[in-house]
Amino acid sequence: MEKEWRCSRCEKLLGLLRDGRLHLRFSRGHEYLVGFPATSVCRGCRTLNELNEAKATTVAPVNQAVATR
Ligand SMILES: [Zn+2]
Repeated sequence: MEKEWRCSRCEKLLGLLRDGRLHLRFSRGHEYLVGFPATSVCRGCRTLNELNEAKATTVAPVNQAVATR
């Protein structure tokens, strides 16, 4: 199951969470599987985003996250 990692500022897709690791894909077929914590600069707005393992494992479906708040 994959989950999307999006820019905290502009919602641009930065990568995909898959099996506890982060899958980053760039142009020209360059792909990376990285561990946590991971950082990435958004290609759209240049915001530096950081993703920690703890946060990755607590990503929940949208409706469930709303219900707990
Ligand atoms: Zn952005």
